Amino acid sequence: MSKFLDKRYSSLAAYVPGEQPQDKQYIKLNTNESPYPPSPETVAAVNKSEAELLRLYPDPDGRVLTKKIADLYGVGTENVILVNGSDDILNFAFMAFGANGRKTYFADITYGFYSVFANLHGSDYKTIPLEDDFTIDYKRFCNLDGAVFIANPNAPTGIALGLDEIEEILKTNPDNVVVVDEAYVDFGTESAVKLVSKYENLLVVQTFSKSRSMAGARLGFAIGNKELIGDLHKLRYSTNPYNINRLTLVAGAAAIDSQSYYTENCKRIEKTREFTTNELEKLGFRVLPSKANFVFAESDTVSGEELYLKLKEMGVLVRHFTSDRIKNFNRITIGTPEQMHILIDKIKEIMEAV
Ligand code: PMP
Repeated sequence: MSKFLDKRYSSLAAYVPGEQPQDKQYIKLNTNESPYPPSPETVAAVNKSEAELLRLYPDPDGRVLTKKIADLYGVGTENVILVNGSDDILNFAFMAFGANGRKTYFADITYGFYSVFANLHGSDYKTIPLEDDFTIDYKRFCNLDGAVFIANPNAPTGIALGLDEIEEILKTNPDNVVVVDEAYVDFGTESAVKLVSKYENLLVVQTFSKSRSMAGARLGFAIGNKELIGDLHKLRYSTNPYNINRLTLVAGAAAIDSQSYYTENCKRIEKTREFTTNELEKLGFRVLPSKANFVFAESDTVSGEELYLKLKEMGVLVRHFTSDRIKNFNRITIGTPEQMHILIDKIKEIMEAV
């Protein structure tokens, strides 16, 4: 650390992304990317003439893509904001609704970036424990006195709340913004977007990184009441108005036009998720009921860390977290059926040897 860093940041623990090793080709099941490429139309959109246009700034309001997203989700363009991956909007949401000593609430086991943003912006945050079975008791998120951040489905558990439970949280927090992070919603959970017209405190956050195979393009968006979205645009314009590059904007528009391609991929991933869950259960794993493109699993035979390390040696990357409640688990992204067959074979080998 240099002597120049502001004291506010000296004890900040930065977010640690899943590893992206370059030493060899892994079967990469550690960062919840899609195993399928973007649609042919999405790939074709990133063409030579678009690349030549890189000399020009992108549209700071991404109007073409914003309109497509608004139409797809049945809202107005004033209800949509585009961001550089959903992490970008989560950052703005903490900045806008939970900074400088204001209270924020999120689960004790959830997306690790929430506590990083909370610390970054000086939020007075409290974590709400998940139940023993890792479900969320929605009642614990009702009647709070600060902004609420809830991933639905949750990560890394994959467990989803029903829309009626989300609605109860919204109703009982009329003076608090409720951010519903739907990064994994397309793999079998009902979206809260349809509640946006009813609740001025709702901000729904989504991403192109998972179900639309565009993690590398960095594209996310949020949908909410016009005033909330206006607040977030103000922060965006006060940091980086050109937050989405031209190539990502055209790729995103083509992706929205290829909706059925991505819906099909999600169905395939859901099917592979059920296969993977069954196979892991046959091997004695406890697998949490996932509605995401990953499963969270633990075994009594082999520790979470040992399984992670042995799989890595064998060329398969999964994600292991070291915090106490979940250190025996691994989060395994759902890949292609072929990749998951290899994973199961490797796990069998490891378990036979212990
Ligand atoms: N929310 C959750 C729950 C996530 O797991 C992730 C992925 N790390 C994100 C948001 C951010 O994804 P992105 O910035 O790629 O949109």
